[in-house]
Amino acid sequence: MIRTIFLSLCFAATASATAAAQTSDVVSTREMSDINWMEFKEVIPSKINTVILPTGTLEPHGVINNGADITAPLAIARRIARDVNAMIAPVIPYGMTGSMDAYPGAFSISEAAYRAYVKDVLTGLVKNGFRNIIIINGHGGPQTAVLTQLATLVGQEERVRTLVINWWSYASDVTLSVFGEDGGHAGWNETAFIQAIDPKLVHRERYSDDMVTPNPAPGTYSAYPAPSSITLYKEGQGYVKFDQAKADEYFSKVTEKVANLIKDIRRKWDRAGVN
Ligand SMILES: [Zn+2]
Repeated sequence: MIRTIFLSLCFAATASATAAAQTSDVVSTREMSDINWMEFKEVIPSKINTVILPTGTLEPHGVINNGADITAPLAIARRIARDVNAMIAPVIPYGMTGSMDAYPGAFSISEAAYRAYVKDVLTGLVKNGFRNIIIINGHGGPQTAVLTQLATLVGQEERVRTLVINWWSYASDVTLSVFGEDGGHAGWNETAFIQAIDPKLVHRERYSDDMVTPNPAPGTYSAYPAPSSITLYKEGQGYVKFDQAKADEYFSKVTEKVANLIKDIRRKWDRAGVN
């Protein structure tokens, strides 16, 4: 009996040591806002020289949260940070909302203010020792163009490497393969992504297909404010169907694709020997 207990204890100790080895990380947290300055100095940039900056905005999103464009890139960053060996900078939640800025709870920051603020954040990340700066952006329109320009500019000025990923666009092939159709703003794909992160943010009881509007074909018409907060890339595709299994599959495939892109680009930067 005593021997049995001893063996069990030994086994338990070995099992917990193995679990600890599997869960141990080079840093106690991947969140820049949770780490203290002493540990920061110990690991950046010697052990971690990549940072992910999530960017979003506040605007209506059909039956999901106004901050869906914040929720999504932050969740991607948290899922992949360890895999791609990156820290996560605090999210920039306010952004340049376009024609949906008239909706309740929406915010839009002027381009001049947004440019200046984001540029200072990027420069601050460089000053803190990061060499690879990855923006995971949750919101499209002019914000994408501004982020792309700023990332290139800071890369040139500071001699660092920058990458801007617009996750929903980069994942459009995953959208087609998981749902069998294209998506839209707050359409099935984006709603599913949020459903995978936190189903409580999805209010299915408020949904009807009548809330949905296809994007107008280029040059046909434009409306301000946007008549609907659910807009479809292709007419007839992307109506929300609230399938949890597809939502989970989508989240997992999209985050894996984003992680692989970061690893691949960084490997090629290293191989090319560029700053
Ligand atoms: Zn969105």
